[in-house]
Amino acid sequence: MTFAICTLIIAVGPSELLRIGAIDVDGHFTFKPSDLASVSSDFGMLKSPEEPLAVLHPSSAEDVARLIRTAYGSATAFPVSARGHGHSINGQASTGRNGVVVEMSHRNIGTPEPLVEPEEMYVDVWGGELWVDVLKKTLEHGLAPKSWTDYLYLSVGGTLSNAGISGQAFHHGPQISNVLELDVVTGRGEVMRCSEEENTRLFHGVLGGLGQFGIITRARISLEPAPQRVRWIRVLYSSFEVFTEDQEYLISMHGQSKFDYVEGFVIVDEGLVNNWRSSFFSPRNPVKISSVSSNGSVLYCLEITKNYHESESDTVDQEVEILMKKLNFIPTSVFTTDLQYVDFLDRVHKAELKLRSKNLWEVPHPWLNLFVPKSRISDFDKGVFKGILGNKTSGPILIYPMNKDKWDERSSAVTPDEEVFYLVALLRSALSDGEETQKLEYLKDQNRRILEFCEQAKINVKQYLPHHATQEEWVAHYGDKWDQFRSMKAEFDPRHILATGQKIFQNPSLALFRPSSSSSSASW
Ligand code: FAD
Repeated sequence: MTFAICTLIIAVGPSELLRIGAIDVDGHFTFKPSDLASVSSDFGMLKSPEEPLAVLHPSSAEDVARLIRTAYGSATAFPVSARGHGHSINGQASTGRNGVVVEMSHRNIGTPEPLVEPEEMYVDVWGGELWVDVLKKTLEHGLAPKSWTDYLYLSVGGTLSNAGISGQAFHHGPQISNVLELDVVTGRGEVMRCSEEENTRLFHGVLGGLGQFGIITRARISLEPAPQRVRWIRVLYSSFEVFTEDQEYLISMHGQSKFDYVEGFVIVDEGLVNNWRSSFFSPRNPVKISSVSSNGSVLYCLEITKNYHESESDTVDQEVEILMKKLNFIPTSVFTTDLQYVDFLDRVHKAELKLRSKNLWEVPHPWLNLFVPKSRISDFDKGVFKGILGNKTSGPILIYPMNKDKWDERSSAVTPDEEVFYLVALLRSALSDGEETQKLEYLKDQNRRILEFCEQAKINVKQYLPHHATQEEWVAHYGDKWDQFRSMKAEFDPRHILATGQKIFQNPSLALFRPSSSSSSASW
């Protein structure tokens, strides 16, 4: 504690220390080394851990506001970053050594519980709430949010700062398209309520805003009646063109009779072809694997679901059969399972527990997520899936299309300039003792080559969960939205206090601490 306070004095000066020490919060500040260490790294594990000076465990929006007002009024404007559940890849929720991390997901006495309004079909949630807990609470009322991420142990504020996407996005839009109202603490320390009707600019700017304009302390999320069960189907394709044609057909369907979730993944790995009957594939579904053998080439798996109520269990088979008739997958490759809605939504957590038991969860994750315009997805397939990747992938590669008209152009999220675009998510894990193709440097180099290939082939991809090294790259990322983004920063966080880990704008106190030899000092 004494050491931490001394460091704080050196870093931000004695007057700032006195101010921080004097902040009266309902939650609490912690300087304990174990607490500082616990927020110093993230899921990506790509950077050396950097401990902040202090961590705030807030109980209310006012706690967050008091801290930010102190930072805003201090000589150095020390950085303040919200940390959701620390599932970023490149240190986006960190502040560096001289900042204060606000641990939003830490439960304190007084942190508001989700409040469901069944009549109005919405839930009010604390910004640090995990989606899994939002789901549990809303299910008590037979309701659920409409749009999801594949994994539920992410925070509401964290995913709304990006977009929040999964196989429902083609129909409901990303999670940021399903928010009715927010409470936000701006970089000036003001608590502002915003919505489509009130403080509209801030509302849209914060959604997908990478934490640049304020810390979300409350979100009002739109709900729908929760389905009870899910018919979950996977089918295979050997032709990329037929696979994408079917995916695009499925996301173009309107009306009641359609699938509720459309995703897919790429199988480039020989090992995966032989072992891909993972826990999903039940013994009730024997498959003649020889009939879908890839002969060393790439296979594509379409993943779809139909949600239903138990009272509809007599008709769901027929409905699924009719929908499937329009698709052109390999006929012998149909895998079906049926499970509770909550078990489907929470499916990735099961994989997490398995990986944790084998010590394979807390390893570096050089993930790369790209939005690829529909007009170039076939070139991407040839250059990346059938080219750069070779036949070893070190993790799942998701691919699924979305409709741009379900995204609000006024939000800060950036997508390609086409009506339909694909998410390609290369979700790889690096192993220090694995084969060469599983090593971190190998995977990072592959990512670099993929981005280089897109640039040379003029495939206008946009990074999702973006990570850029220079401001020039950020300006290119935002394109037409850059001027608006920059002017909102000037209005809502003029001293560049917030979410400095995104490395879009430079915080003055970080400049003080940057070694003069640092090659990145000129870049942001
Ligand atoms: P953090 O990583 O802690 O924070 C992310 C950024 O948001 C930081 O800049 C932080 O400062 C800022 N921030 C956090 N909280 C707030 C707040 N309350 N107000 C303002 N800014 C805030 N994403 C998808 O869209 N779809 C998926 O299917 C999906 N699956 C995933 C599966 C796994 C296993 C993992 C690890 C990640 C997945 N993600 C997915 C990515 C996820 O959306 C991002 O990691 C995101 O950052 C949310 O994580 P978090 O809540 O831990 O936020």
